[in-house]
Amino acid sequence: LKKREALTTGVSSIDALTGGGLAVYDIHEFAGEFGSGKTQLCHQLAVTVQLPPSRGGLGGGVVYIDTEGTFSPERIESISARFGVEDPLANIYVFRPLSVDELEEFVVRELSRLVKGGSRLIIVDSVIALYRAQFRGREWLAMRQQRINYMLDWVKRLSRLYSLVAVITNQVVSVPSAWGVAVKLPAGGNIIAHASTHRFLLKKTGDAFLLEVLDSPRVARGASVEFRIEEDGLHD
Ligand code: ATP
Ligand code: MG
Repeated sequence: LKKREALTTGVSSIDALTGGGLAVYDIHEFAGEFGSGKTQLCHQLAVTVQLPPSRGGLGGGVVYIDTEGTFSPERIESISARFGVEDPLANIYVFRPLSVDELEEFVVRELSRLVKGGSRLIIVDSVIALYRAQFRGREWLAMRQQRINYMLDWVKRLSRLYSLVAVITNQVVSVPSAWGVAVKLPAGGNIIAHASTHRFLLKKTGDAFLLEVLDSPRVARGASVEFRIEEDGLHD
């Protein structure tokens, strides 16, 4: 059996934790509070995917769906300099949807054409923000969940069809635990949980960042590693 291709995160401890990097065909969810490193990780992956396979990349481009308007060409340039990737922005297609309709329209009508042009990574940062804003209140919950499911189903199908790595980021919600202490869990309930092959939680503690495995077919639940974020990206 041919070993499945994987994408390096550029952080060796995270690669080790995930069994060699992020796997093609799979959806990887990174949930965390504001400032926990989700967007920085997305930027780093948009660079490492461009590395040749001999260096842990997939030698391809990325479609970066930026629902929060936080994509930064400057961050890409700083991270690329570290990895020696030249002209990185030429291989990053950024789309900034302003509504759920625009996001769906893009994923359903444009994404496959773009991906055929040589992308190996799809990023949705963040998966839930637009849905939360548009479908507020209990009476819209079922509709919201159905629409998230519809969009993620497309992402999953395209990943399988074109051997892509998929990465989505998610917000967290506070849920009361059995001990009366609130715990932070990814938003979006069953739909996002079910759609994601691997689920990770990101946390910031002082100057350090933590990545914890919430659910994965390949990694022990609860396993975690620390990393740092510097001007040139994420480090061990
Ligand atoms: P949100 O939910 O608000 O989108 P996020 O999880 O996407 O948050 P990021 O923007 O990825 O958060 O992470 C922000 C953190 O990354 C900052 O708190 C900071 O510590 C670090 N960071 C960002 N840019 C730099 C930089 N140029 N140099 C060093 N650290 C940086
Ligand atoms: Mg962010």
